[in-house]
Amino acid sequence: MKRPHGYDLAGTAGLLGVAILLVIAGCATPNATSRPSSPVPATRSLPAATFATATPTATPSPSPEITVPPPTPRPLAGSLPLVNSCDPSSVSGAVAVPGPADSSSSSFTLHVPILMYHRIVPLAEAGNSISGLVVPPETFDAQLAALGGAGWHTITMATLATDLQDHVTPPAKTFVITIDDGWYDGFTYAFPILQRHGFVATFYVIAGRIDEPNFLSSIQLGDLVAADDDIGDHTMDHANLTALGAADLKYQIDAAAARIAQVTGYWPESLAYPSGYEDTKVIAALSACQELRMAVLERALEIVTPARAPKPGATQGPPTTTFLQAYETWAYRFLVPRIRVTPGTTPATLLAWLG
Ligand SMILES: [Zn+2]
Repeated sequence: MKRPHGYDLAGTAGLLGVAILLVIAGCATPNATSRPSSPVPATRSLPAATFATATPTATPSPSPEITVPPPTPRPLAGSLPLVNSCDPSSVSGAVAVPGPADSSSSSFTLHVPILMYHRIVPLAEAGNSISGLVVPPETFDAQLAALGGAGWHTITMATLATDLQDHVTPPAKTFVITIDDGWYDGFTYAFPILQRHGFVATFYVIAGRIDEPNFLSSIQLGDLVAADDDIGDHTMDHANLTALGAADLKYQIDAAAARIAQVTGYWPESLAYPSGYEDTKVIAALSACQELRMAVLERALEIVTPARAPKPGATQGPPTTTFLQAYETWAYRFLVPRIRVTPGTTPATLLAWLG
């Protein structure tokens, strides 16, 4: 069963409120959240069989008055056998991707902006990460506050794939948040901010780094899934897929998908190309993995327009960045662009990009 989450904690007062909500959450239906509904509700429950071999973890001592649910036991990624297959039956108990992925002639088109983040972490904790990929938590919070305040709401990539496949148009002002590479800060910093705004995200994790230091753990991934966030495939090792032969391609795509299914209990439904590298051979390997219904480019389609020449004596203004109209079709589902959000992206700019 899903672990309860206190989505309604935002704005409530102090520990007393938290304690009361924990007691309530222990008894209430886990799916009762304040998150905006999507046209295709992602109501899911963890399969019991998936964690049959889990190693129990330490549980907190229950107080006589407050029942705190123990952490869900989950196997560590490194303890799981390698499964180099996208066949749903290859991971016992994992939930397969719904529906066939063969309607390639579809011309149904959606216009759902997909935002791309990498790290949501204070600069002081970012180590050697590229500065343009490091968005401080307060900046992320301000960006999401602006979007929420303007009436925007989120769906995951999995829901977007389902909508595209079923020809369902999400409500206006629907967008997707994606966070790449599976750093720990996706849980420690981004997750609470997402919850505070009632948003969900798709986390593209590097499957071979699950449970490694500084990367998301199996337990954290389980908690994200329990909160209706989505875990996507970002290959085993963040390899440049265009440089690989058939066997290595299959390993990077299929084994990573299977590892995520082993850890979370759900097959991933989408993949993000490491560094945006793709070609026809890579797309063919992706389409052979029926569990992956979509793939997204790590590089956004952006147009940078130089500022007009200044009048004599005036200062040259900054260039203007605009994005090609984002769209998704089933026939083009392995080449879906994303919009890169940087630490310098102001809330006003973000709203302008999304239109
Ligand atoms: Zn990446």
